[in-house]
Amino acid sequence: MSDCIFCKIAKGEIQAQILYQDEDLIAFKDLNPQAPSHILIIPFRHIENLAAAQEQDALLLGKIQLAAAKIAKELGLKDFRLVANNGKGAGQSVFHLHYHLMGGRRFLWPAG
Ligand code: AMP
Repeated sequence: MSDCIFCKIAKGEIQAQILYQDEDLIAFKDLNPQAPSHILIIPFRHIENLAAAQEQDALLLGKIQLAAAKIAKELGLKDFRLVANNGKGAGQSVFHLHYHLMGGRRFLWPAG
């Protein structure tokens, strides 16, 4: 999508601190980190959010989770949190599917 900020990052039109990339997805540092390590993992292909994902995206969604575990390991994060905000009411502000990989501090549960 032409006006999507994460599509622009995926295309290299907007700079980001990229930590990992493969043929399907890209991971970069969040601009406004909520933890010492806060990485966003996005698919190259524009999908609005998890609710918009289709059966055909199953492999992609699995790859994102495996990439999250790999990145966490590379960052030395034994404990981490992986979050996908779905919809405005859940805190989604960028409507291109992304997972927040966060670590380096203690997290409360329930999250509130
Ligand atoms: P969400 O609120 O779940 O949609 O998360 C969007 C995230 O994107 C927020 O944590 C923002 O800090 C982050 N963000 C927005 N623009 C950028 C950017 N250009 N580079 C890196 N992170 C960004």
